[in-house]
Formats: sequence, structure tokens, C-alpha cells
Amino acid sequence: MALIVQKFGGTSVGSIERIQAVADKVIKSRKQGHQIVVVVSAMSGETDRLLGLSGEISSQVSKRELDVLLSTGEQVTIALLSMALEAKGCAAESFTGGQVCILTDSVHSKARIMEIDAQRVSKALEDEKVVVVAGFQGIDADGNITTLGRGGSDTTAVALAAALEAQECHIYTDVDGVYTADPRIVNMARRIDRIAYEEMLEMASLGSKVLQIRSVEFASKYNVSLRVLSSFEEGPGTLITTEDKSMEQVLISGIAHNRDEAKLTIRGVPDTPGIASRILGPIAKANIEVDMIIQNIGDDKSTNFTFTVHRGDYKRGLEVLQGISEELGADGVSGDDNIVKISVVGVGMRSHAGIASQMFEALATEGINIQMISTSEIKISVVVDEKYLELGVRTLHSTFGLDKGN
Ligand code: ADP
Ligand code: ASP
Ligand code: MG
Repeated sequence: MALIVQKFGGTSVGSIERIQAVADKVIKSRKQGHQIVVVVSAMSGETDRLLGLSGEISSQVSKRELDVLLSTGEQVTIALLSMALEAKGCAAESFTGGQVCILTDSVHSKARIMEIDAQRVSKALEDEKVVVVAGFQGIDADGNITTLGRGGSDTTAVALAAALEAQECHIYTDVDGVYTADPRIVNMARRIDRIAYEEMLEMASLGSKVLQIRSVEFASKYNVSLRVLSSFEEGPGTLITTEDKSMEQVLISGIAHNRDEAKLTIRGVPDTPGIASRILGPIAKANIEVDMIIQNIGDDKSTNFTFTVHRGDYKRGLEVLQGISEELGADGVSGDDNIVKISVVGVGMRSHAGIASQMFEALATEGINIQMISTSEIKISVVVDEKYLELGVRTLHSTFGLDKGN
């Protein structure tokens, strides 16, 4: 009997009717002879609603208490889904992350899974129950509730699939697979049949939120067979798997974008050894992650230093720079939180020159100014003004021959 982990995202469990439909789907898989572990998200909008409530108390609530609050969203869904399964005559048992020993580190709001002791899940499966587990949450060594970051239920599902050595992990969501670009922005986007872990990792880290990046890391590390499917219609979805020959022929597999970016600049700092660390040290100390970095040399032995951060860290980042500006002898500090990052991704880029120039030319033709560039072996990213997001993504999608019907 094959064990399958099925994960249903927020929209898929967004109402009682939808939870009933999920129960029907689970029962169907059960009747096909599979053992099923279901991982669910909070009902759509619930995590944001809870965040809003805490925001009404203070913008600086304790991260520990925030995790206690946010984890309740998933707890509601596991209970409702188990009730729905039982009402339809299917034995089920629900568990919070802590109850099935999803042990994480103690970094509240973005905890990492360290270990899973799957005994309790295995016992319930042996008792012929469907096991329903709350996504997005775990417990640290001291017994505190932790959460895994937005989109973290994907990671719960893949980590459980790895720990239980499940045959497959199915991520059911509101699109019918991974597309060549976000189908909500590019209506010419195409569903991808198979994508390499490495490419999916890059797409996820560059903003394609269909899978949380850590879920792809786990899948790749433990070789979990991972498939993204629609909750609402039948179809093959997208298989995320090891790279194979057929994939190598594809030059560009997708266009990713990320709105969650902001740019910070400190102008006219002395161009001396150690300056980067004197700027980025305090930024790191403030727990702000830095993405792209550019340093430009001026003609008077001074330099402008620009980097990008999460949009949520923008204000704090500006404050930190203002705090060190005088001490570094800088001319000033500025920033922009109306920027986006657009990236082209493809393992085929490794063996092809000229992708970057093709990309820059296409953007120039549309009058889109590039503010920053960063490249790796399998991706090129640019930062542009937010107003060019749709135009930029669609232009690159068609430039690289990804449009439907090609
Ligand atoms: P869930 O609540 O099921 O976890 P998410 O909202 O987290 O769903 O992820 C699904 C969404 O990801 C889609 O609705 C889509 O807008 C977005 N998305 C972004 N990039 C892509 C992509 N390349 N392919 C498919 N979906 C994408
Ligand atoms: N409910 C959490 C979120 O909205 C986790 C998830 O849905 O994966 O981010
Ligand atoms: Mg998600």
C-alpha cells in the first residue's frame, strides 16, 4: 500500500464546501488503496486576518506570541477536515505540528525543521486512519510553538513525505501546476510538465510563491517526488524532479518576479577596504537580509553603495543607514520601495551565451530602465520600477519563446 502525502493550500480549504470537497478527494485516494497523510493550510485569508489582529495591538509584538496566534489558523482546518472525513465515514485523526513532533529551531516566524519523529503518524496510519496534520508549524526544543514562514505548509508536507518515506508528495493548490510565469500576470503562460529541482529552487527563491523555497530544498535533498496539482480540476500537474536529458534542451524555463523588494543607497562613502562590511554589518545585526548589492566608484575616491532588502525591512534599513551615515562620512542616504525584481531562469543558460544581452535589449525596446542586475549560472535578475512589472514579465515571456502556442 503506497503512502501519499497530500497538501491543500488556503484557497482549497477556504470554505466548508471546499473542505467537504477535499474530504471527498482524500476518500477517493483512500479507496484506491493508498495510505494518506493530509497537510492543510489555514483557510484563505485567515493568516492575514490574524496578523491584522496582532497589528492592532502593536507593530512590535513578541514573535513567540505571534507564532502562538498564527498557528491557530491551521488548527481550525485540521479539526474541520477531520470532522468532514469522519462524517463521510472515513476514520481520521488530526494533529498539530507539535503533536507529531515536528521539531524546529527557535527562530520564531521563520523556523527551520530539524527533525521529525513520525511515530505518532505511523501509529495512526497503522490504525487505518487518515492522518491530518497542521501545516506551517512546529515546536522547538523547549516546547514553544514555532511557524515556518509564509507558505510554510508546503515545507511541512515535503518534510513529512521525506520522514515517512512516502511514495509521493502532492501539493494541491489553486493553479493546475507550475507555469512558465505567474498565470495571474501572464495569460500566455504555459504549464510545465517537468521541472528540475534546481530550476524550481531558483524560481521559488526569485518569487514564484507556488512552492515555498524550503519545500523544494527538502524535496531535492531527500529526493521526494513532488507534484503540484489543482484542487479543483483533474490533470497531470507539474512534476518536480531530478534534471534529465529532455530538460537540458530548454533554454529558459520561466520568468519569475518578486514584488517584495526595496532598494537602499548610501552615497559618497570613502572607497576604502572594509567599507562594505561597515555598511552591511549593522544591517545584518538588525536581522535584515540583503539580496542584490552594487558598489559604484565615483571619481573622487568615494563610492555609492546600493543594495536590496525585503520590502518589510525597508524602513528599518533606512534608519540603520541614517544611523551610520555620519560616522562613515557619507553624503547621504536614499531609498525606493517601489521596485520589483524580474528574473529569467533556466538550466540551459549554462551552455548559452547572449541571454543577458537579449534580455536587456527586449526591456530597452519597451523603454524599461534597468536599475540593478545580478546573474548566476542559471538565472539573470533585474530590478526595475514597479510600474513596469506586468509589461516586463510579459515582454520577457514572449522574447524567450515561452508564450502558449509557440
Ligand atoms: P496555496 O494557498 O495553495 O499555498 P499560493 O497562493 O501559495 O497557494 O500559491 C499559488 C499561487 O502561486 C498561484 O495562485 C499563482 O498566482 C502563484 N504563482 C506565482 N508564480 C507561479 C508560477 N510560476 N506557476 C504557478 N503559480 C504561480
Ligand atoms: N497559512 C500560512 C500562510 O498563509 C502557511 C501556508 O498557507 O502555507 O502563509
Ligand atoms: Mg502557498
